[in-house]
Amino acid sequence: MKIFAANWKLQKGPRETRTFFTELLKATETKAKMIFFPSAISLEAAAETLKNSSVEFGAQNCYFEEKGAFTGENSAAVVKEIGAQWVLIGHSERRKLFHESDSEIAKKIQLAHKLALKPMLCIGESLEERKAGKTREVLQAQLEEALRSQDKTKDLVIAYEPVWAIGTGVVATPDQVRETHAWIDEDLQGFGFSKRPPLLYGGSVKADNAKELVQIPNVDGFLIGGASLEVKSYLDIVRSITN
Ligand code: PEP
Repeated sequence: MKIFAANWKLQKGPRETRTFFTELLKATETKAKMIFFPSAISLEAAAETLKNSSVEFGAQNCYFEEKGAFTGENSAAVVKEIGAQWVLIGHSERRKLFHESDSEIAKKIQLAHKLALKPMLCIGESLEERKAGKTREVLQAQLEEALRSQDKTKDLVIAYEPVWAIGTGVVATPDQVRETHAWIDEDLQGFGFSKRPPLLYGGSVKADNAKELVQIPNVDGFLIGGASLEVKSYLDIVRSITN
């Protein structure tokens, strides 16, 4: 089953979150796997509205300590208590704007697993790195740092998101996605996973490019930002593939 994950970033308060999910549940007849990442303050509204549905949700980030004197951080334990199943880890905005390191990302994945939350790990290269021909080595390093110490039997999803394609309207070409996902698939083989984690593509995904991208080998779904903010544009992507 293809995965359609949605990152709402710093958008939608509890009221809009309830409205979105009420509308989505009314409109949804598909069996696609849907995972939403609302902002932390709207997680409880998501939990209430999605109760008894198959739509899953999670936090966009969590601190690597469960509790303590860490003012302003989100606790993965609280995210779990609210009823979320997922946590997004290492999004490029976290890495770039909040200086999140690969070693912090590794600790966050460990804590998520300890608390039975499913981590969705984001990796991706910058435009300069791609132009310099360093994409594979950048991704290898991100994977190595984040995954070396993890339990390879636990749930994990990996989202490949070229930084230059996020929120820019510039989607990676099918050839770039094909080549890069093949590298990631090959490099993951060396980690000893009991089952290769699903591999998502993210970066300016819309209904008019999703259909072609999903046919590429090793593309198991998408992480969608801008186009996930309206029920229609999100479901247009889902339906372009599942119908
Ligand atoms: C994202 O935020 O992870 C993302 C892929 O955004 P967009 O779809 O808007 O490029």
